[in-house]
Amino acid sequence: MILQHGVRLEQQKTPSLKQKIQALPVPAGLAASKPLAPRQGKLDAAGIVAAAEAANIVDEFDGAPLFQKLKRMRRLRVKTILACCFDEDPYTSSAMATLRENTDAIIAGLVLAAKACGAQENKIAVATAHEARVIKRINPQADLVIAGERYPARVLLKQKLRYSGETTAYIGAQACAALTMAVDNGRAQDFTVVTVAGDAVEDWRNVKVRIGVPLQFVLDACEVSPKTKIVITGSSVTGKAVMDLSQAVTASTRCVIALKKTPRNRTYPCIGCQKCARACPRGIRPWLIYHEMKRDRPDPLRLQNVQKCIGCATCSVACPSGIDLGGAVAKAAELKKSGDFN
Ligand code: SF4
Ligand code: SF4
Repeated sequence: MILQHGVRLEQQKTPSLKQKIQALPVPAGLAASKPLAPRQGKLDAAGIVAAAEAANIVDEFDGAPLFQKLKRMRRLRVKTILACCFDEDPYTSSAMATLRENTDAIIAGLVLAAKACGAQENKIAVATAHEARVIKRINPQADLVIAGERYPARVLLKQKLRYSGETTAYIGAQACAALTMAVDNGRAQDFTVVTVAGDAVEDWRNVKVRIGVPLQFVLDACEVSPKTKIVITGSSVTGKAVMDLSQAVTASTRCVIALKKTPRNRTYPCIGCQKCARACPRGIRPWLIYHEMKRDRPDPLRLQNVQKCIGCATCSVACPSGIDLGGAVAKAAELKKSGDFN
């Protein structure tokens, strides 16, 4: 049964949700973007797509330009469009904070997005019943759906809705709010909300950051410890270590995690528990792929379903032996695509 897939992760969002989103200063030299050209004609679907393109709106969850996503959703005849207003990994809370402080703008942006792609329904996806109650107190009109707390909740919710016959697609909370800003105020997407957390950060928080500022600027503004050994951006499950802190913040930098110790990747032999297979939302058996990939010449017939992998790393998180199963499946998918089995 698909709903039993995924893993339960210990959530550590409370510290960063305790306070309001803090706007960081804009460094001198980063010019304010010009207002968008006034809209011509009425605001139909094409007009909304054009506004999303002119405002350079990028979906914070997948890094895709919003106007392209809207066009694709129309082609796919998406029935229900969901604003993704939850963060499925343990540290990040930027989507939740954005929803709590911009509920009306997100609802308005979601309605615009639904009109642009022809979706019949639109809903706001939150993680828990508690979060739903928080949002209902802010705006009783919000139409909510609860994704649940098992990682990867986005995929699991989408699968659940698909099994009930709905074609669904997600838009990020920040992208929704940016669409409202573009249409109502003629503003480009200049800012993004980033969670700054980790044991090298005393005061975990969500900050509103000018897109394009260096990561080092954000770390300095948040008084991150000079003892920081590693900085990770993106999801705390699938995020990547940053080697160069002059790298710019983008619309999809949802989280910056600063740690005083580099995580130790100690692994143990596979014990055959199959937790990885039970956790995988795509029906892959990662432990079989892992063993096959350790052979000198992997058999393509034994690398089943690897092309269906979405890179969520749920299998790696579930593995009690600490094996990088997500990496093994990704390598298997590459190998199968290349066809180079000699
Ligand atoms: S990374 Fe791939 S194999 Fe692992 S759980 Fe996710 S979809 Fe399954
Ligand atoms: S979860 Fe880890 S130990 Fe268990 S079967 Fe999968 S690879 Fe082996």
